[in-house]
Amino acid sequence: MVAEATAKPRQETFSSPSEWGRVLRQLKNEVGEIAYKNWLRSMWVERVEGEEAVIALPTRFLRDWVKAHYADRLLSLWHAENRDVRRVSIVVARPLQEHREKAESDNEGEAEAAAAAPIAPAVSSSQREGVRESPLATGEDDRTAPGHDLGSELSAPLDLRFTFPSFVVGKPNAFAHAAARRVAEACIEQSRTLPFNPLFLHGGVGLGKTHLMHAVAWEIRQHAPGRKVIYLSAEKFMYQFIRALRFKSTISFKEQFRSVDLLMVDDVQFISGKDSTQEEFFHTFNALVDHNRQIVISADRSPSDLEGIEERVRSRLGWGLVADLHPTTYELRLGILQSKAEERGVKLPQRILEFLAHKIASNVRELEGALTRIIAHMQLVNREITLETAQELLRDLLRANERRVSIDEIQKRVAEHFTIRFSEMTSNRRARAVARPRQIAMYLAKQLTSRSLPEIGRKFGGRDHTTVLHAVRRIEELKETDPALAEDLELLTRMLQG
Ligand code: ADP
Ligand code: MG
Repeated sequence: MVAEATAKPRQETFSSPSEWGRVLRQLKNEVGEIAYKNWLRSMWVERVEGEEAVIALPTRFLRDWVKAHYADRLLSLWHAENRDVRRVSIVVARPLQEHREKAESDNEGEAEAAAAAPIAPAVSSSQREGVRESPLATGEDDRTAPGHDLGSELSAPLDLRFTFPSFVVGKPNAFAHAAARRVAEACIEQSRTLPFNPLFLHGGVGLGKTHLMHAVAWEIRQHAPGRKVIYLSAEKFMYQFIRALRFKSTISFKEQFRSVDLLMVDDVQFISGKDSTQEEFFHTFNALVDHNRQIVISADRSPSDLEGIEERVRSRLGWGLVADLHPTTYELRLGILQSKAEERGVKLPQRILEFLAHKIASNVRELEGALTRIIAHMQLVNREITLETAQELLRDLLRANERRVSIDEIQKRVAEHFTIRFSEMTSNRRARAVARPRQIAMYLAKQLTSRSLPEIGRKFGGRDHTTVLHAVRRIEELKETDPALAEDLELLTRMLQG
């Protein structure tokens, strides 16, 4: 729907509007509705000249994002449509009136659609239970009058399964869990002094950060439905903010959050880059903290490891309480499996549960996936499952858990090994003390993962693939002549694969 109209080129062009329309539609199919709406909808074709297509976006932030995430795909899709196009440039430009109107009318359409759909907003005085897969409340109409129930527009829907009772507490997550509980209580009691603000939850993927945040929201909704709680992803927060900038309504944007009792922003590692938007983003945080509003933030790393965020901001994020969710232990995994099996009313042999807890150690999400598969199989064949069948069913998962190493992990381990900061892995510093470990990490990334050189480069602060290639070759050479280095490599490899 968006495709055709945004396709109006500004200047004379050799690319037909329908060509661009098809590119957009294809991309939308690939990335999904939400990502499309967040990042791609405001693109337009500035011009097509010879081999080059120029795509424009209204802000630097959007430009950088689209460039980093979608540029390659845009080019190949476009090239597939039109062989003449061999280069896609992405620039910042002021939208023409027609684009702006288009964007606005899109939003109205969506707002209507959203109103008609069964939404389960995080904050709503009328509690609507039983709705899970609801569309994201759009909340993109920043012309809404103040005083309107903004929480319901900004907040993302909550997952019904993510509650405190369903969260299994063990050593690795006990602290984070207690902190989250305490925040919920304080909000319910409307304590004058907040226990810790902000609460910063961090930990690897699939360890329960989102679960805990939703649990806080559910708890409050249950015991104090009048409180305003907003839960949303950092990407969405950022997007809302950028929109406000674009339509020059940052003040109303900030106002929206003033009346909030609790603001929770998930996955803030996505907010980085020394951009004015980042600055503003954290001003909003500060303003809320100053107004004694509770904030909960999550990230996949600690405040001190957040890259591309100013020191001042970083330290402010760590002012309240920083609670770490540690990787799961065998006992916790077993506990989670027992609880999930019970939740689904299924009895599984202890041996199978132990096997899963032992073998699938990466994250809880995968553990749940494994369990789901086993239960589905059991119900289909209607027979008790054996260890052999389980092994067979989960072959791919088991293999992946054996030797999958992520670049993040490599960077982390290498940084630890050489006692440098994790952020040096992506920094520009060239001092030998950090440059060599960085090269070693690139080398290991090439050896131990299936990532391509450009992908590795991107993970190392957006370096070029030639830099990665150079690092790989350099380490290969050095390994032959430097026994200490060879030993380091050996040790790191064993640790990472173990
Ligand atoms: P994160 O946000 O840290 O990536 P999630 O909160 O999305 O992780 O958790 C991933 C999945 O694992 C969810 O289905 C969640 O319910 C489940 N999970 C994680 N930790 C626990 C736990 N301690 N008890 C029960 N379920 C958990
Ligand atoms: Mg999450």
